[in-house]
Amino acid sequence: MFKLIFLLFISSLYSKTIPIGQGQVKYFNIENTQNIKSGSYFICDQKVFFPEVSARFISGYFSASYFESSDIACQLIDQSGDATNISMNFLLKKVKYPREFLKVNKSKVNLSKSDLIRVGNEKENLELVYQFSESTSLIKEPFSYPLKSKITSRYGKQRVFNKNHKTQHLGTDFRAHKGKSIPAANQGRVVFTGNLFYSGNTVIIDHGKGILTLYGHLSEISVEQGQLVRKFHIIGKSGSTGRSTAPHLHWGVIVHGNMIDGETLVQESKKAFYR
Ligand SMILES: [Zn+2]
Repeated sequence: MFKLIFLLFISSLYSKTIPIGQGQVKYFNIENTQNIKSGSYFICDQKVFFPEVSARFISGYFSASYFESSDIACQLIDQSGDATNISMNFLLKKVKYPREFLKVNKSKVNLSKSDLIRVGNEKENLELVYQFSESTSLIKEPFSYPLKSKITSRYGKQRVFNKNHKTQHLGTDFRAHKGKSIPAANQGRVVFTGNLFYSGNTVIIDHGKGILTLYGHLSEISVEQGQLVRKFHIIGKSGSTGRSTAPHLHWGVIVHGNMIDGETLVQESKKAFYR
C-alpha cells in the first residue's frame, strides 16, 4: 500500500537534482511522461529558457554563471502559462579556479575615459547579440574545440592586478601562430563580426537555443554577418588584435548569456547525440 501511494506521488511530481559547477554547462534529458508540449519553458529564478520537447523527451542545456553563488531551482511552465509538476534543481558546486597575482603599471589596468565608454557600449551590444539566439537548434553533431593545439590559458583563471583589480579569464586560449586558419566549433549562423576593445577582431556564431561561440584576436575575418557556416568552416585567421600580447585564439562559449567553460560544452554536447 505504502509503495503504491509512493508511486502515485512520484508519477505526478517529477523533480530532478543535477550538480553543476560555477562556469559550467550541463545537458539534461528527462522522459516526457506527462505529455508536455513544445513551447513549454523553464523558469529558473529570474531566467527563462526553452527546452527541446519531443513526444518522448524534454531536453536541453543549463548553465551556471562563473559568479553564481547559490543553488538554482527551475520550474517547467507549459505552453499555456500554467505551472507543471516538473522541476529541476541545480546544486551549485564551488569551483576553485587558479588565481595569479600580477604587478603592472597603473595605466595598463585603469582604462581611459573614452576606452571605458567604448567597453560599456560593446558590452551592451554583445548582451543583445546573446539574447537573440535562434529558437531552434542549428547543430547536427556535438561541439569540438576549434583547434587541437595546446591550451595556453584555461577558462576561469583569476588575475589580480596590483592586489585589488580583479579580472577573470572567461574563455579558453589556444596556441596559434599568426595567420592560422580558424574553424567554427559547430554549425551555426554568424551573428557578429567586428573589432572589440578586449577581443580585437571577433566573430560570434549563434548555434541556436541560446548557445553561441566567440573567436577573438583574429588577424583576418573571412565570414559575413548572417552567413550560415558548417562545422569546421574557416571563419578567419588567428592574430593578436585587441588586448593581447602574442598571437593566439581566444575561444569563448556563451550559454543563456553566461560565459562558460567551453570544455564542458564539448563534453556535455556528446550526451545529446550519443545516448
Ligand atoms: Zn583568452
